[in-house]
Amino acid sequence: MLIPHDFYSEKKWCPKCRNYVPYLVSLEKCYCARCGHPVTLFSEEDKKKFKKALEKKRTINRAS
Ligand SMILES: [Zn+2]
Repeated sequence: MLIPHDFYSEKKWCPKCRNYVPYLVSLEKCYCARCGHPVTLFSEEDKKKFKKALEKKRTINRAS
């Protein structure tokens, strides 16, 4: 496959591959380049971590 190198610079989470994968962009959604499953920005686990980090930040901001 001839794909420009920076095609791989950003990856998204594919729940089917259970990995961060290169993805294809269509008008409405992004799809896994490996299996064609719609991808998400984060895995469920990372989403929780991200949310927690945000909540932590918010709490700190509120306290100050
Ligand atoms: Zn996949």
